[in-house]
Amino acid sequence: MNRIAVMTSGGDCPGMNAAIRSVVRTGIANGLEVFGIEQGYKGLMENRIKLLESKDVANMIQRGGTFLKSARSLEFKTDEGQQMAVGNLEANGIEGLVVIGGDGSLTGARILHEKFGIKVVGLPGSIDNDIYGTSISIGVDTALNTICRAVDMINETASSHDRTFLIEVMGRNCGYLALMSAIASGAEAVIIPEVKYNIESIINKIKVRYVEGKSRSVVIVAEGAGSAYDIGKAFQLIGGFDTRITVLGHLQRGGAPSVFDRTLATRLGSAAVKGLIEGRTGVMAGLGNREISFTPLSEVLTKKRDLDETMLKIAEELSL
Ligand code: ATP
Repeated sequence: MNRIAVMTSGGDCPGMNAAIRSVVRTGIANGLEVFGIEQGYKGLMENRIKLLESKDVANMIQRGGTFLKSARSLEFKTDEGQQMAVGNLEANGIEGLVVIGGDGSLTGARILHEKFGIKVVGLPGSIDNDIYGTSISIGVDTALNTICRAVDMINETASSHDRTFLIEVMGRNCGYLALMSAIASGAEAVIIPEVKYNIESIINKIKVRYVEGKSRSVVIVAEGAGSAYDIGKAFQLIGGFDTRITVLGHLQRGGAPSVFDRTLATRLGSAAVKGLIEGRTGVMAGLGNREISFTPLSEVLTKKRDLDETMLKIAEELSL
């Protein structure tokens, strides 16, 4: 293998630049030429492919986002689009590909591998932590730190008034960010898509806290469980609470990656290149217990991550 390429696709997340840097420098250190594909599958179809040198990834590990840019492409879902993408890989003599992204991006990688025989290794990049085959994805730790900083600040102002704050965080199908940030910020309640919630019992629990002398409460809501605005209205109507809503939105995706994300992305990028050199393909590199492991993309994309029941129990018990 002489030439490999790397791209970022789907939603961006902090740590993608660190992963690209690791792929580029590991590749060069192992005698490969490494190409960067701009704007994910869109750029691959448009042949936006350039040779990257070591200096191109200098001063990059601490930067959020992705300097290769990311994109979503409907055209790549068609056979015609995929043929264009494969044609460009072949025209550039690229023999191995590293795809960094979420489930959709890894689905594209699986197609390149299964349908066209392209050698591909995926890396999990998504702040939701909804990807099977890794205990944690690139970007999750930074997003959690960002959320907790925001909740801490809201807690300070909340303490000055008798108010209930509802804070909506990202997570369409997966309540990981909400659950972990609720535990780490000491929130009174968490509402996530995986668990049916009873608004009256949450309201009653918070009322008991107020009677006991607590002056404020914070409820973290995962976006997939419902809009914090709607849930906040129910808090007002049913509980008579003075509520304030904060939707954290895209700030959760931004910012400099945490030390954990920088090192995770670096380890995964290095493993992806070494995996390609050793002949691995159709797999995703992820973090197992403490070691990097490879899981077939067919498994990554058909199995679901289980909700961590222990953490759920901890959240319930500690918010009493
Ligand atoms: P995020 O977790 O942020 O949503 P993602 O990687 O899941 O990231 P998607 O928009 O779902 O983001 O997918 C990114 C791109 O991957 C799509 O725009 C498309 O080009 C490609 N892709 C997604 N699903 C498929 C599919 N079924 N077949 C081929 N390509 C796909």
